Amino acid sequence: MKPALLLNASYEPLSIVDWRKAVTLLWLGKAEVLVAQERQVHSAHTSLELPSVLRLLRRVRIPRRRVQFSRNNIYRRDGYRCQYCGERFSGADLTFDHVMPRSRGGETSWTNIATSCQPCNRRKNSRTPSEARMPLITQPYEPRWWPFSAGAGNLEDHPEDWKPYLWT
Ligand SMILES: [Zn+2]
Repeated sequence: MKPALLLNASYEPLSIVDWRKAVTLLWLGKAEVLVAQERQVHSAHTSLELPSVLRLLRRVRIPRRRVQFSRNNIYRRDGYRCQYCGERFSGADLTFDHVMPRSRGGETSWTNIATSCQPCNRRKNSRTPSEARMPLITQPYEPRWWPFSAGAGNLEDHPEDWKPYLWT
């Protein structure tokens, strides 16, 4: 039985729940199924869809925070992929790249730091992506904070049908 992604009524990811918790929320009328798993639970009188993604019907209030700016969160934002060659690496083989080089006033911030492998980082050197003819796969951005993000691990490892609801 696969776990389910639980969303707030406002569609923000809240947490990953096991199927029992998911089914309980549905039985209590507190949530609806957005994406069902192929598998169903059967009892004597009824069968119930097992959710892969479910949404609370009433919004729970979550205090807003910013995502902590850190090496691991940058890698997670970029799916552990070098933003120049597109290859996936482990954290140990990745580094930060200042898109606008630091020597030219580029800041160390969400919007100027991209995940890079070591060879691409050396090749780009202190040039901009256009000078180096190394276009970025995605423009760096500040991710939104969700309670879910805290323990989410590597986002690329989650089920395909969760992805439309993550990091939008
Ligand atoms: Zn690379």
